[in-house]
Amino acid sequence: MVKAVFFDRDGVVNEVIDRGENFFVGEKKVRFTAPHHHSEFRFKSGIKEVLEAVGKLGYLRILVTNQPDIAYGKLPQEQHERIMAEVKNLSFDDIFICFHRRNDGCLCKKPLPGMLLDAAKKWNIHLPSSYMIGDTDNDLLAARAAGVRSVIVSDGRNDHLEPDSRIQDLLSILEIIN
Ligand SMILES: [Mg+2]
Repeated sequence: MVKAVFFDRDGVVNEVIDRGENFFVGEKKVRFTAPHHHSEFRFKSGIKEVLEAVGKLGYLRILVTNQPDIAYGKLPQEQHERIMAEVKNLSFDDIFICFHRRNDGCLCKKPLPGMLLDAAKKWNIHLPSSYMIGDTDNDLLAARAAGVRSVIVSDGRNDHLEPDSRIQDLLSILEIIN
């Protein structure tokens, strides 16, 4: 079996976008969102180096991301594809995307662990020796449900979460996994 580090996208790979106090996605008020246009997309500092280092440590690097904003009409398909073309330039071994909305009843949308479990089956991943790095409760809950160790990147909005490990910047992940 192999071990893996699962990465959330928005808030881990790239910066989230602050939409202010009055922004709604699918009738729910949401302040911080994914980039909705390629021009908004910015990699977070250190992500490229972290992915390369994690690979050298013998872990698969797997992106697991919810992207419902296409279905909600906020993110044009072609902008999503331009953004993902940037992400695919990084050294991920595999990418899992859930495009469903909150009430679609899928099994893949975090906080459900479907994407992690599908990846585990596909790659023969040993989940207890794997990690999930995220920035929200959805990432933490998906990690717990899949039985992987949870890591939260602090952003000033997630201090209430209680992951297995907390890091202040991406490069610090290298002090946790080894
Ligand atoms: Mg996120």
